[in-house]
Amino acid sequence: MVAVLGLGVVPADTPILRADDLGALRGDGIFETMHVRASRAALLDEHLDRMTVSAQRLDLTPPPRADLADLVSATAAAWPADQEGMLRLVLTRGAETPPGPPTVFATVTAVPDSMRQARTAGVALLTASLGLPADLRRGAPWLLGGAKTLSYAVNMASQRWAQAAGADDVLWVSSDGYALEAPTSTLVWLDGKVLCTVPVEATGILAGTTAAWLLKHAPDLGFTADERMIAPSALLAADGAWLTSSVRGAAPIRTVDGAPVTQDDAVTAAIATLLGFDLP
Ligand code: PLP
Repeated sequence: MVAVLGLGVVPADTPILRADDLGALRGDGIFETMHVRASRAALLDEHLDRMTVSAQRLDLTPPPRADLADLVSATAAAWPADQEGMLRLVLTRGAETPPGPPTVFATVTAVPDSMRQARTAGVALLTASLGLPADLRRGAPWLLGGAKTLSYAVNMASQRWAQAAGADDVLWVSSDGYALEAPTSTLVWLDGKVLCTVPVEATGILAGTTAAWLLKHAPDLGFTADERMIAPSALLAADGAWLTSSVRGAAPIRTVDGAPVTQDDAVTAAIATLLGFDLP
């Protein structure tokens, strides 16, 4: 399904981008991915908040927030209520010559079965260096830390590399040895009764809406919450670890570089219920 700002839902093969749209030419734009359930986009406000941050970091001027919210809501409303959907809201810098206004559209597709299954089967991770010290992006705004940009070729290449080696996904590691995030998800782990994630501002990772929501509601699970730095090897001694994202929910990490991670499937199930996901 495809929808365009100002037009609403259009036939899926409708041309949307000019050939010189800078989103296509340079990956110069931003996006949000949301989970659609019962024909509504989950955590819409949180996603629009993050899109506002991304737009500021790229010096993009988004359309009024209410127009973006209307576009998302109309798109989600047209998606079948009994099917989980993956909604992407995209905003590019627009045409190169003459410089155009941002191009704004939304797409929805079905959630891949592999992603649904990972909520119980879990994921095997390989660590991969991102080549930067953990704190570099804090002082380097041109690296666009914390912005959800369309430049995801490195993210996708990281996942292909892991899959070619027989794993499911990558855990990116800083050059000084800290676990950061995965190419499309946030690292969350349990240390005793403390649910932890990696600090956003200190590292320039993307501020995951799912992890933030989960940590805010940690007391519902009998946990407290904290932001910490962790080495990948220390995850093996944690009391559970997950990759979280809007569409994936929380996928238990089964192994890191082939070494097993402790998991309590009852905690994974409780997290899924709290996040509003049905487990397959
Ligand atoms: N980190 C990166 C790099 C991502 O691309 C994503 C999601 O797309 C996340 C983390 C998780 O964010 P969220 O929970 O808002 O989906």
